[in-house]
Amino acid sequence: MSVSGSGSPSELRAANRGRILDLLRTNGPMTQAELARASGLSPATISSIARELRGDGWLDDGDHPGGGRRRALALSRSAGVAVGIDFGHSHVRVAVADLAHTVLTEAEEPLDVDHAAEEGVELAGRLVDEQLEALGVARDRVTGVGMGLPGPLRRDSGEVGDSAILPGWIGARPEALMSARLGLAVRVENDANLGALAEIVWGAGRGCSELVYVKVASGVGAGLVLNGRLYHGSTGTAGEIGHLTIDESGPVCRCGNRGCLEALAGADAVLEPLRRRLGDRPTLRDVVARARAGDTGCRRVIADAGHALGLAVAGVCNLLAPERVVVGGELAAAGDLLLDPLRAIAARSAIAATRRLPITAGVLGERAEVLGAVALVLRESQRFVAEPPAA
Ligand SMILES: [Zn+2]
Repeated sequence: MSVSGSGSPSELRAANRGRILDLLRTNGPMTQAELARASGLSPATISSIARELRGDGWLDDGDHPGGGRRRALALSRSAGVAVGIDFGHSHVRVAVADLAHTVLTEAEEPLDVDHAAEEGVELAGRLVDEQLEALGVARDRVTGVGMGLPGPLRRDSGEVGDSAILPGWIGARPEALMSARLGLAVRVENDANLGALAEIVWGAGRGCSELVYVKVASGVGAGLVLNGRLYHGSTGTAGEIGHLTIDESGPVCRCGNRGCLEALAGADAVLEPLRRRLGDRPTLRDVVARARAGDTGCRRVIADAGHALGLAVAGVCNLLAPERVVVGGELAAAGDLLLDPLRAIAARSAIAATRRLPITAGVLGERAEVLGAVALVLRESQRFVAEPPAA
């Protein structure tokens, strides 16, 4: 093996092939001109590598995601697939996409909220087996498995921490369990990070390399994509926008501080003032439906949440200057009833340069997490299948 810094011509060529394959897996179908720009390689080199990859079965012609009649290069179906799994409060979802970013199948099964981790893993494993079999995809063609779980994951031990949402998973090591069940590499991410990736690949943040995704549901969290990659910070907890202090004398938050964004815009903050109006156990879905139908109390509470979110989003825009802010989660279904007050406060509080950054609703709804788990493999996986596809 050569140890020279520049590498032999064949090593250089292999590195360039890897670079092209990585770009196509991350970005989906691209034209030769886009590949040349993104890789820094000459158009002649791209064209020669593309010919070689096509001969080896890696590439097909694809539709360009930007539409029009441009011919794009896409990774072939036989190059591999990415699998996503999402555990929610009362369901598990599975999706499979090819490496050209086409979602091939999605499935969902109900899951008891008190299920044990092993039970959830077995059910998800069966759904993955069934879908791969229906697609005729062999296991060695699975590039990786992304997985979403509500609740905190300890980075050091890989264990699920204290989770009020999925009590049966506390202390379990989901990556290890699922990896053992499937015989495949598995990576777990939190729901806000997955939402950010899903909206970039298939939704409202398409093509952005600087994106802030704010998920407003039972909790409030953010997924940060900086320079095209998820940002975790030194502790793995970056994006905890829900615990920014918005009002120092506000209500006490579950984290122990006062006036956190989550204590002002999370589900409890939205539902609590409406209990007398809507009865004992209203849900965010009920509140959004009533607000859309014109209920002034529900509209007021959603607008107040939008106001608090706007203060936090303004700060985030000043700090990071993303290309776009996408708001997802159950409360985002309120659309402009939430976003208009949010935008108004953000515009007032942000500096001039970031005042007009687009703030839009996510478009993927409850599919955001499972699609994000697929996108995690497409965009963040370092483990690309290196062997050429079987002819
Ligand atoms: Zn807090």
